Amino acid sequence: MAQRAGYICSHPLCQQLTIGPSEDRGTKLTNVGEAAHITAASPGGPRYDVKLTKTERQAEANGIWLCRVHAKQVDDNASKETVDELRRWKVSHEDWVYRRVAAADSLVQHGITDLAIENIGPFRSRAAVKFGRHNIVFGLNNSGKSTFCECLAALSGGRNLAALEKRWGLFKSASQAGVIEAAASIKGARTSVRLSEELVELKRLPQRRPQRLQVEVDGNVSASWPQTLFNVVYVDNQAYRPSDLKDPFRRDLRALAPQLALSEAQLWDALREPLFCSTTFGSRVRRTGAYSVEVQVAGSSHFLPTENLGGAEYTFTILDIALRVMRSDPRPVPWMLVIDSSMFLRLDADNQRRVLDGVQALDEPPIQTLVCLNSEQEAVELSSATTERWVGSSTAGRLTLHAFR
Ligand SMILES: [Zn+2]
Repeated sequence: MAQRAGYICSHPLCQQLTIGPSEDRGTKLTNVGEAAHITAASPGGPRYDVKLTKTERQAEANGIWLCRVHAKQVDDNASKETVDELRRWKVSHEDWVYRRVAAADSLVQHGITDLAIENIGPFRSRAAVKFGRHNIVFGLNNSGKSTFCECLAALSGGRNLAALEKRWGLFKSASQAGVIEAAASIKGARTSVRLSEELVELKRLPQRRPQRLQVEVDGNVSASWPQTLFNVVYVDNQAYRPSDLKDPFRRDLRALAPQLALSEAQLWDALREPLFCSTTFGSRVRRTGAYSVEVQVAGSSHFLPTENLGGAEYTFTILDIALRVMRSDPRPVPWMLVIDSSMFLRLDADNQRRVLDGVQALDEPPIQTLVCLNSEQEAVELSSATTERWVGSSTAGRLTLHAFR
């Protein structure tokens, strides 16, 4: 019974794991779960059913796996927690466990698990990948890395979706319909979305054949999709297109803010020293003017204006700001940081290693990451130190994605 429940409490709102290691007990196990009777084993017990035989009372089907709290709660409240209610819990819990096993997606419990693209840019036929917590995608120039990242980022909606629409002329032509499918998980609860172009037939305006966005969530047509499941920050130098701003730092923050679900003013206001007292790569940021900050980089004892930072120091500062804001999000939603090859490959090998080690050490809340590289050689060099974390590969068109724990 415990194994069929995955050793997880079957109470619909609990999902408490009930087994783990013990150093002191003979079994080497600590078990905080109980096999509770749905109808009691003996007369006078909770929900006792006189019609059952002794064998039926002792059968697996007459029990439900619960944590200790819920085992006591259901036995002390037999009038509220009825036989029918407990049977429903058991069926739906075993179904939930079964689906988690069948989907084999337990690697990513909190983040984006899958992405499929069809008829967008270089991806003509359907290309699908499975993500790990950390991911390296590689392919030669023009093999679709940017399109892949843009499709991923478009799932967060807003400006990222608008950028994809503009680049590939989505919703304009009546040619083959573009499709983006993805699934994300929040603490194990999985949601899938499908975004596609759909032709609209307007009887009164037959000459106009506009496209519209068709949205499906978990297989059902929907007015919108849960964009907050897909919080993707795409750090790409090319995305920081020319603007009226000469100051590169101000330009970069303007590009970053909407991806962090902030206005430009909110992001500037967030640049307070206390928020940056501990960052992933050790940059401390303090605001010194309306549009200026000073940064103390790791290993340095003084603050410098951003224009005095070296290339790598500047990159680490941008990454630290993005990661710090993502990690201070009070909502229990996953975040993914996508680092484009144009930014990553400007760093030397030691600093590339430092980026990967830094993001992979992040926990509570974890951040999912995706780094783009131009060749398998680069991916091999970088991933060699993390072989024990490697969990799988998939290909999408001419791209390959390595997933890591
Ligand atoms: Zn429980």
